[in-house]
Amino acid sequence: MQYLPLFVKLTGKPVLIVGGGAVALRKAGTLLSAGAKLYVISPEFAPEFIEWQQQGKAELITGYFSPELLDGKLLVIAATDNDSVNGAVYDAATARNMLVNTVDDQPKCGFIFPSIIDRNPIIIAISSFGTAPVLARRLREKLETLLPQHLGPLAQLVGRFRDQVKAKIKGFAARRQFWEKVFNSDVVRDVQANQLPQAEQRLSALLAEPQQLAGEVYVVGAGPGDPELLTLKALQLMQQADVVVYDYLVSPEIMQLVRRDAELICVGKKAGAHSVAQQDTNQILIDLALAGKKICRLKGGDPFIFGRGGEEIQALLPHNIAFQVVPGVTAAAGCAAYAGIPLTHRDHAQSVQFVTGHCRKDGSEPDWQSMSTPNQTVVIYMGLMKAAYIQQQLISAGRAATTPVAIVENGTRLEQRIITTELSELAERVSSEQVQSPALLIIGEVVSLQQQLHWFGARPQSPVFAQPLTRLR
Ligand code: SAH
Repeated sequence: MQYLPLFVKLTGKPVLIVGGGAVALRKAGTLLSAGAKLYVISPEFAPEFIEWQQQGKAELITGYFSPELLDGKLLVIAATDNDSVNGAVYDAATARNMLVNTVDDQPKCGFIFPSIIDRNPIIIAISSFGTAPVLARRLREKLETLLPQHLGPLAQLVGRFRDQVKAKIKGFAARRQFWEKVFNSDVVRDVQANQLPQAEQRLSALLAEPQQLAGEVYVVGAGPGDPELLTLKALQLMQQADVVVYDYLVSPEIMQLVRRDAELICVGKKAGAHSVAQQDTNQILIDLALAGKKICRLKGGDPFIFGRGGEEIQALLPHNIAFQVVPGVTAAAGCAAYAGIPLTHRDHAQSVQFVTGHCRKDGSEPDWQSMSTPNQTVVIYMGLMKAAYIQQQLISAGRAATTPVAIVENGTRLEQRIITTELSELAERVSSEQVQSPALLIIGEVVSLQQQLHWFGARPQSPVFAQPLTRLR
C-alpha cells in the first residue's frame, strides 16, 4: 500500500493553502466542507476567497510564500501555477515533516485528496494514486449508482439510537445481531420512503422486543475459485457471519471477502494431509450455534455436491439449530465453462454424470458400466489419485480408449491449467504433468469441442500442438 487511507478530523484545524486562483479554490472548498480553518497566501485572490474571509472561514495573507508561514499548521497545499513555488513549498514542508499536497504533481504529495462519495456520515474515498485516474473515476461512478441516497439518513438514524442500543443490549455479538435485524427490517424501507418518524418508531419497537442470541448455520457454496462466481446471497452471509468455518477448497481471494472481524476456522487441508474429522467439524458447528453465533460454513463449489453439506445439516437437526443452504457453482459447471467444454451438446452428449473418484472405505464402487456407453459425459471429482484405476475400469467396462479427456487443474482460477488427452493416456498425463489438486476429470466426446471453444486463460495443453511444452502459461 503506497498510501494509507485515513479519515482526518479537520474541524477548526489550521491548513495553509499557497495560491489564490481556481486550483486553490477547489481544494479550499473541500477543506471548508470538512470544517478546516484556512490560511491562504497569495499576491491576489479569487472573489470566493474574499467572501470566505468576510464569513470568517479563511484568513487571507497577501504576499509570497515563506517557510515560517508553515508554523502551527497541520497541513499545507501547494496550489500555485508555478512549479518552482510549489517545489519550494514542498521542500519546506517536507523538511519539517509536515504533510503536503502539491496539486497535480503526485510525486510531490505527502498526502492526496481522494475522490469522495458522500452519504454523510458514510464517506467512501477512492484513489488510484495517480496510476489510473480514469479507472478510479469509473469505479466512483459505479459506486455512486450502487449506493442508495438513503444510506446517509439510515446511518444518521442508527447513530441516534446507538447509545440506547448499547445500554439495552449487552455484548458485541448481540448488538451486531440486533443491527442485522434492523437492516433486514422495514426500518430501511421507511427511511427510503423518507418516513423518518415511522422508521424511528419501528426501530424503538424492535429494541423493546426481548433480544435473544439465536445461533444459525449458513451452509454456503463458494464456487470453484473465481470470486466473481459467488452468489449475492453467499456474499451477504459471508459478511454477516460471526464465524466462518471453511476448508481448503475455498480460494484465498474468496476468503478476502468475508467479514474482516469474523473468527476464521479452517477445517480442511489439502487432500492427503491432515484435516479435521467430519465428526469434529459437525461438533464445531453445533457448539458455536448453541453459543448463539451466526456461522457461515463455507465450502468449495456447491455444498450438496460431494460437499458433505447434507451430513452437516443432519448433525444440526437434533439440536434444533436453524440453518439455510446457499448453492454454489459446482466444480463441474465452473471448470467446464472456463475450459470451453459444454457438458452436454446435442451432437456429442445427451447426459452427464458427476462421479466421485474417492470411494468409500466399505469398498462400494461407482457403476462403471453405466459410464461406459458413448455420447455421455462423465465428470470425476477427487479423481487425481485414482486416475490409473479410473482409466482401467472405464476401458474394461467398454468405454473407448480414444475417448477425449480433459484434466482441469485449478479451474476458474487465474492459475487454471487444462490438459487434454485420451482415456488411454489419462494416468500417464496426470503423472507426467504433475497435476495438482484441485483437479477435475472430464471424460467424453464433448471434450473435443474444447479446441474450438476455449476462451479463458492459457491455451490448453493438447496432444496436438502443445506436447513438447511441460507447462503452457
Ligand atoms: N463441493 C465441491 C466438490 C468438493 S470435492 C463442488 O461442488 O465443486 C473436491 C473436488 O472438487 C476436488 O478434488 C476436485 O476434483 C474438484 N474441484 C473443486 N474445485 C475445483 C477447481 N477449482 N478446479 C478443479 N477441480 C475442482
